Amino acid sequence: MLDTIFEIIFLVGLIIYFFGVYIPHARYYKKQKTVTDWYRTQDLVLDFSTYLVWQIIPVVYIFTPWLDFANYSIPFWTGWIGVIMFVGSLLLLWRAYYDLGRNWSPTLQIVKEHSLVTQGIYKYIRHPIYAGLFVWALAQPLLLHNWIAGILLLIFFTVLYVVRVPLEEEMMVEEFGDEYKEYMDRTGGIIPRLNR
Ligand code: SAH
Repeated sequence: MLDTIFEIIFLVGLIIYFFGVYIPHARYYKKQKTVTDWYRTQDLVLDFSTYLVWQIIPVVYIFTPWLDFANYSIPFWTGWIGVIMFVGSLLLLWRAYYDLGRNWSPTLQIVKEHSLVTQGIYKYIRHPIYAGLFVWALAQPLLLHNWIAGILLLIFFTVLYVVRVPLEEEMMVEEFGDEYKEYMDRTGGIIPRLNR
């Protein structure tokens, strides 16, 4: 019963992310013209399955009893660690989307007048949006105590990350050449480089 508080916090965070961060960028993205598209069928499968365990299944879990057979219990206080991580991930995501601005795309694409962002949070890491999603994926099992709604995201997103990032960086090198290679030398992927 007490766990409901964490489910409410999760829902509020999801709504803030979806309507406050994702939708405004998706709207802007719709007006963009794509120059190069690196999207393949396998990405669609990866994206869709990650989206399912990230946003759809948690909502089903919260509003129906269908997934309750896969519940687990953990000490109540761990939920508060989840809340702290969740808030951190929302801030990270908000900031990263803000810095990436009009260069953001939901899939691997180069848009018209694409510019390489190396400022703001991108000064420290190349993939702050993916870093934010990792923190989210670590927080989710602390907020939703269910093997399907809580833990699957971490597994799915790890696969997505491992498949997508090498391709994304290859695309960026092809587009920006040495500028991106130098940028890679001085930044970390999702964890900042200490010996810069
Ligand atoms: N990997 C980044 C961006 C994810 S959005 C992150 O985690 O924050 C994916 C799109 O962002 C890619 O299609 C690419 O076109 C664009 N992108 C990624 N890094 C970029 C950068 N440093 N500057 C400009 N665009 C970038």
